[in-house]
Order: sequence, then structure tokens, then C-alpha cells
Amino acid sequence: MSIIEEIIALTKRRGFVFPTSDIYGGIAGFYDLGPAGVLLAKHIKDLWWKDLVQLRDDVVGLDSSIILHPKTWEASGHVSAFTDPLVECKLCHERMRADQEDEIAAHIKNHANKGETNVLWTEPRQFNLLFKTYVGPVEDSKSVAYLRGETCQGIYSNFASVMASTRVKIPFGIAQIGKAFRNEVTPGKFLFRLREFEQMELEYFVKPNEATTTFEYWKEERMKWYLSLGLSKDKLRFRQHEATERAHYAADSWDIEYDFPDWGFKELEGIANRTDYDLKTHGKWSGKDFSVVDSDTNERYIPYVIEPSVGVSRLMLALFINSFVKEEKRTVLALKPALAPYRVAVFPLLANKPELTSKAQSIYHDMKKQYSATWDDRGNIGKRYLAQDEIGTPWCVTIDFTTLEDDTVTIRSRDTTKQDRISIPKLSDYIERNI
Ligand code: ATP
Repeated sequence: MSIIEEIIALTKRRGFVFPTSDIYGGIAGFYDLGPAGVLLAKHIKDLWWKDLVQLRDDVVGLDSSIILHPKTWEASGHVSAFTDPLVECKLCHERMRADQEDEIAAHIKNHANKGETNVLWTEPRQFNLLFKTYVGPVEDSKSVAYLRGETCQGIYSNFASVMASTRVKIPFGIAQIGKAFRNEVTPGKFLFRLREFEQMELEYFVKPNEATTTFEYWKEERMKWYLSLGLSKDKLRFRQHEATERAHYAADSWDIEYDFPDWGFKELEGIANRTDYDLKTHGKWSGKDFSVVDSDTNERYIPYVIEPSVGVSRLMLALFINSFVKEEKRTVLALKPALAPYRVAVFPLLANKPELTSKAQSIYHDMKKQYSATWDDRGNIGKRYLAQDEIGTPWCVTIDFTTLEDDTVTIRSRDTTKQDRISIPKLSDYIERNI
């Protein structure tokens, strides 16, 4: 089994990720988050929000709707140009992205394995990635709307409202976390390329002559952020986009890439200098003026936008890979405690002793007030430890008969498997100290 296959099996077994509509055979490009997955995603989003919004004075939050006025997508160019070049295999009629050379090569290899060596492709054709729907009861061209292909368009359309309703001044940012939808031609690679996914996007508005230095600032900040999550330094790198692969409006674009097993370095986050393109085009299409006045020089200008953008599920996949440790007798998801679904698991040594269960329950409920905590009273303690190692729980607390005598518990560390005996009032101190 490859590492990715092992991770797919572990994340299903331990309730992180389930294929959507599994009972009907699934649907390509869609996944559901299970009880552990939803907590991991929440912790990722909470950390992003804390570092990019809560701890800063120059960024405010937003939550715009998924369906925006359809003009948004005409103005942004998505209706006419949010496309991927598509080729069709003349043997089996599967369609693939012409620019994804590794997928094309794998497809040809699959045919070759069946003795079919004459794979021919149609000429590339552009395919629009926006999901279409209709608003209201009549399905005609006037009611067409789109599920947003990126979250940032809702930020641009609220730019003036945010400026008018808050005390922000350029330079400042608007941050948003929310779902985006892309009818990807070749979804796959587990959580890497989905058709429905969450984005965490920051649009940071600056004076045009400060765009380059701000861009450099965000590049460095974002790399530091990934290191703070525990992603290995040697698995991360920057890559500047070639002029030909950059979106036409971007003056500069860099990816932070992660080294995925089997696939190599691939985009984790994109950082773009989108210039004044978005505010200018929305200004033109809506007839509104998005220029601002510099209070020192009285100069009027349309702000430039620096955008760091990352998908939650793609980051989850990188974190699964990065923290997956296979030892002889156990598998560990060595997530940073702040990310782990549960900070602590609480067990009564035996399930059929009411005095142990009730003491353990009271500790469990106390722990829950501080941390995300879980409970397990099934099977033997060794098996419970192994299950929590795979979920990534940094500490397991066991309540035994000695607890009833002297108010002490065993606390066992995921990373060292070492056990300590400590008194109950010192539990949180112990956990904080060992983080
Ligand atoms: P790619 O080249 O991989 O298709 P992109 O350059 O189109 O990605 P952006 O439009 O820059 O991606 O989106 C910003 C971020 O959103 C990406 O860095 C990635 O983390 C995430 N993302 C984009 N598309 C998907 C997808 N189909 N599934 C999961 N995450 C995605």
C-alpha cells in the first residue's frame, strides 16, 4: 500500500474523511468530514482566523453568500475564461485536463497495461469550471446563477461596505473562510482536487506602490505559518509562476508547494498580486467607484490586492501526510496538539466498575470545559491507546483503582508512550507544560 492509500484507509477508519454518498457508490470530487475530520478542519480554520484576523489590527472578517449576483462572474471573467483545456481519449472517451501531464501519462499506462497502445486524443477544448444553477422557479437564461468558484469575489463586492462600516484604512485586509465549487475535469488525488472545498482567503488592499513589499511580507508570513503548524521545512518550497501560467490580471504569483508522496511538489497555497484588476472591473460593471483618497497626499487611486489563498482540505491532506508515522507496533498521527481533533482522551480502566466510570466521567467533563476531549471505555487499554494514536490524541488519561484512593491518574503521551502518574488538579498544568 502506498502512503496515500494507508492515509485514505486510516482517515476512513478513524472518522476523519468519508467518501460522500458512500452508500450510493460515492461521487467523484466530493468528500464528507467525519467526527474527527470536522474537529481537525475547525482547528485549522480557528488557527488561520486567529493569526490572520484576531491577532491583527489591520484585517477584518467577512462571510459572503455562496451565490452572488451572476454579473460578479461575468465581470471577474469566470463566465468566459474560468476554463481548463480538455482532451478526450478516443479509446474510452474519458475526458482529462490537457495540462495535467502526469494524469495523461497514467491514463496511457492504464491502457497499455491492457495491451492497448494506440491511445489518441481529441484536440483540446475549453471547459468552464463554474457550477451553474437557477434562482427561483423558472429555469431560463435570466435566472442562471453560479456557485462561487472562489470566495474572494464576495470580498471585492463588499469592499466599499466594509470601508464605510468599519474604521479600516488602507493598508488593510478582509479575510473569509467558506466553500468554493469548481467542476474540476479531473478531480482526484484524494483531498487534493475536489469539486466542493473550503477556501481560506485574505484580500489585502494596499497602495499600488506598496504592493511589491507587501507581497514579500505575506510570502514570508505564510511560509512561517505553515512551519508553525508543524509542516516539515524540507517538504515546503516557494515556486514563482511563469508569466504564461499566471492569471492575466496578476502581476506576480507564487505558490507555497508541499512535497506530496507519489506526486512531488504541488501547490498548497497561492499568493498573488492581483493588482487593481478586481476592484477596477467590478467598478466598471457596477458603475460604482472603488477609488480611495490618500489622506496625506490627496492622491486618488484604486488599491492593489495581495491575496494569499489556501484550501482547507488540501492543507488537511498535507497535514495527514506530514504527521503520519508508522512504527512497528502502531501508527501515529503526530499532529500538533493545537490541531489534533482531541487534546485528551479519558478512560476508566474497566468499563464494568461504576465507581471508576463515575470518577472518570467527572474528570472527562471537567477536561471538556477546557479542551476538546473524547471518551473510550471499550476493549483493553492497549487497544484504546492505539486507536487514539491513530486519531492523533496527544494525551490519554486513565482512571484506575488507585485514583479512588489518592486522586491520581495515569497520563500517557502519544509521542513517547511514556506514562506518568499525576494528581488530578495538576492535569491541565501538565498538559500545558508539555505542549
Ligand atoms: P490548481 O492549480 O491546483 O488547480 P489553482 O491555482 O486553481 O489550483 P487557486 O485558484 O489559486 O488554485 O486557489 C487557491 C487555493 O485553493 C489553492 O492553493 C488550493 O489550496 C485550493 N484549491 C484550489 N482548487 C482546489 C480544488 N479543486 N480542491 C481543493 N482545493 C483547491
